[in-house]
Order: sequence, then C-alpha cells, then structure tokens
Amino acid sequence: MDGQGSVDEETQITITKTPKNYFSAHKALYAVEDGLNSGALDLDSLKDGSRPNLLPRPWSVEIYPTMACQIECVHCYAQDRNREYRFKSMDAAMMDRLHGSLHRMGVRGVQYCGGGEPLIWKRGKIGEYIANLNIETTRAGMASNMITGDSLANPETLRRMTFIEVAVFAYDDETYFEVAGRRGCIEKVAKNVRLLQKVKRENGIDGPSINAKILINRLNYCWLKEIYDWSVSVGFDNIHLRLVDDYEEGVDVALSSQQLVEFRQSLLELCDEYQLDYWRENVDFILGEKGSTGEHNRCWTVRLGLNAWVLANGEVYVCGPQWGKPEYCIGNLTYMDFHEIWGGRKHREVAKKVEDQMMSSGCYKIGCRHIKQTKTISAALSGQVDFLPPDEFESRHSWFL
Ligand code: SF4
Repeated sequence: MDGQGSVDEETQITITKTPKNYFSAHKALYAVEDGLNSGALDLDSLKDGSRPNLLPRPWSVEIYPTMACQIECVHCYAQDRNREYRFKSMDAAMMDRLHGSLHRMGVRGVQYCGGGEPLIWKRGKIGEYIANLNIETTRAGMASNMITGDSLANPETLRRMTFIEVAVFAYDDETYFEVAGRRGCIEKVAKNVRLLQKVKRENGIDGPSINAKILINRLNYCWLKEIYDWSVSVGFDNIHLRLVDDYEEGVDVALSSQQLVEFRQSLLELCDEYQLDYWRENVDFILGEKGSTGEHNRCWTVRLGLNAWVLANGEVYVCGPQWGKPEYCIGNLTYMDFHEIWGGRKHREVAKKVEDQMMSSGCYKIGCRHIKQTKTISAALSGQVDFLPPDEFESRHSWFL
C-alpha cells in the first residue's frame, strides 16, 4: 500500500489510523532478495516450482517468553492454550541460549509476543535482552498490555525497537475491569506509554512506533468513541483497529451480525467527527473477513523458512497456527540450540507436511498474514510486482514478517 485510498486487500495485513505502508505484505520481498543476493536462493528454481533449500536463518522470530498474564481479557484468544501450557515461563538459561543463536544467525526481527505478557517475564528482563541485540543486524518489536511498560524505558532498549503494539480495549478503570477483570491498570498503561515517549524525545530516538491496537469485542464495541478519545489523549504514535475473532472453540467474543451493523455505524460517525478518511475508505476491510480467497498449496513462509515461533517451553514451530501440535514441532530448545534445530531433518519434514496439508487444512482462510506474503512473493517471481527500493526498508518495518 502506498499513500491514501483504498488498500489492496490481497496484500494489506491491517489498517492504521494514519496511512502507513508497514502492514503491506510487500516487505517479504526484501527477505527473498536477501536470499537471492547471498546465493542461498536461486531465482530459476524458485520460478520453476522445485523445492528450494531452507534459508540458513529465519528472517524473523516470534518469542513467547511466558504464557502467563496479569489480566484476563474476555477476548483473549490464548487462554485455553496458555492453560494447557500451564502458564509456563521460559527459564533464563534457555533465553540466553536462544539469544545466542539469534545473534549468531543474524536474525533480522525478534518479536516478543503477547498472549502471555512478555513484560512480566523475570520482572521486565526482556528489556535487557533487547538492549543487547546487535543493532547492525537486528531489531525488536513487541505486543504488550503495557501495565509494566516502564521496564522498557532505557534508550538502548528503545533504540533497537521498531514497534510496540499496546492492547487497548477500554477507556477508564471501570471499563478496563469489565473487559480484563482487574483494576488500577489503565492509568499505568497511559503513564508508561507517556514515559517511553519521553525517553524517545529526550534521547532523540525516532522509534519505536508505539501504537494503540484497539481490540473490539462483544463487550466494548459500543465504546468506540471513548476508547478512541482515550487513545488520542495518551499520545500513541498511531492507532490500529482490530475486531477480535472467535479463535478458540467455545469462545464467543466476535461481534454478531447485528453488532457489526451497529459498529459500522459508530465507526462511520467517528470517521466523520474526526475526519478519519483513511478508516472510512477502508471500512469494509476493517469489518470484513480476514481470510484469503482462492486455494493455496504453497506457503513461501514455510517453504523458505522465513519465520519461526518459539514458545515458553522451548518448542519451535514454523507455522503459527500449528502450535501445540507435536507433529508440527520442529524441535525443542530443552534438547538442542535454535541454530541446530533450524534446517534440520525434522524442520524439512514438517515444512513439507505443512504445505502438503494446506489445501485440506484451509489455513489461508483464517487470515494468516503469511498467505498474503506468499501471494506477493509469487507475484514478484512472475514479474507482476517489483522488488522494493532499499530506502523503503525501514518505513515498511521490513525487519518483521
Ligand atoms: S497458516 Fe498457512 S499460510 Fe499461515 S504460515 Fe502456516 S502454512 Fe503458511
């Protein structure tokens, strides 16, 4: 996506309040170009459909330091999963070894993920790991509830961060309690966001972009204006809007069709009141199904090895939605280091199995962003889309896929 106007739904992953191109799937092209330039990939083989070797490093890695969280949001997609993992936290020695591998491999983006709150791990120690990332090769990103966000308030940590996505779903203490079951948090969130903005300003640091990710569920969909006003008052760099999904069985948090009609109306009124033209133009995208149309039997993310997911118990996966299924686990950091697992026999077997089963699993229908990246890579290989200029690398947050 470039500039204003309606987005190309085939390649856009989400919509920000202010148009940004960093949620376009095109950034995956940098990873392919890097593989071609380094000789790890061969253009002719990519085009003729033969299975390439896995890349020697994943481009980006998502780490779940802990499955525990200090709040209980009604819309949390991970509660059952976290319970199954017994709210496990990674031990510090494993985290050290993992970061040793990431450094050695030159992984480009390290994302510390929520669903489990990364900042409660060892009382905010993740900030220290980020401050020690190699700034020549690597950047960090994070999804957090920001209740203990002050642990990131170190210029060396923030200098290495590209984005922080803050979960926003309420506008005062009472509404926060209704959604997340805990009081005294929302003031801390606001205070911590302002603190990080202050550290950025005082140290002349451009990033990270600290964004409100407004999560809309059945409980809070009537509060859109209040939540939006609160987000503006806090001083986020950008505001994203996301309707939650019923990811887990038995979870009923996504808007009903009647609620969707009401929400559309209040979103359009908000757009009129604050001249949010970009949201208005893309209202169908915001409210629409996130899945991909068509049938896919190829996933470049899995085929090339662009991404990895590392869970708190050390399990490593190469396709997010397959977590927790032993047959898709490519290894466990309890027994081997990450750089030893990567590219090994189990990894190759699982990558092939994931792709072989794509059509029957229909993974592309759930809105996995990687299918959009796959489409973009395929379009580039067939000459329909250009590879991107180097000077757009940063603005597209291309460290992260
Ligand atoms: S869910 Fe499907 S599209 Fe997403 S990474 Fe896995 S195989 Fe690829």
